[in-house]
Amino acid sequence: MSLRIGFGYDIHRLVPDRALWLGGIEIPFEKGLLGHSDGDAIAHALCDAQFGAVGLGDIGEHFPDSDPSWKNISGKVLLEQTRIILTARNAKLVQADLTVLAEAPRISPHKESMIHQLEKATGCRDVSIKARTNEGLDSVGRGDAIAVYAMVLVEWDRV
Ligand code: MG
Repeated sequence: MSLRIGFGYDIHRLVPDRALWLGGIEIPFEKGLLGHSDGDAIAHALCDAQFGAVGLGDIGEHFPDSDPSWKNISGKVLLEQTRIILTARNAKLVQADLTVLAEAPRISPHKESMIHQLEKATGCRDVSIKARTNEGLDSVGRGDAIAVYAMVLVEWDRV
């Protein structure tokens, strides 16, 4: 059994007239995250970190934009699919530490619900979310985008 670390990053543009899905929940806000999928940058960064931990490439290779079956797909479903892919390789997510950068809306009031959804989708009981702003700097600071960093620990029983 080996312990593997993984790192993931994602950023999505905030646009009007779209539902805001983040961390597996819908947050009431005047803008939403643009994407071929539901734009859930937390879910995407967390998928990527897990793939990285076991050397399985990235989210785009597993769930390509060009495939219509992933259109508007929920981040929770992508996390469930990622879990299936890791399980098939005897790998298991044991810890995830997430940093969300968003000027608005405020993320902190939603952290507990997000953690609940992420733990349900990944099967991991040790997910943490840290919420920060970008101090008014760059695209995230202007409120044009939300960015997420994900660190994970994965147990891998290589056969
Ligand atoms: Mg994404």
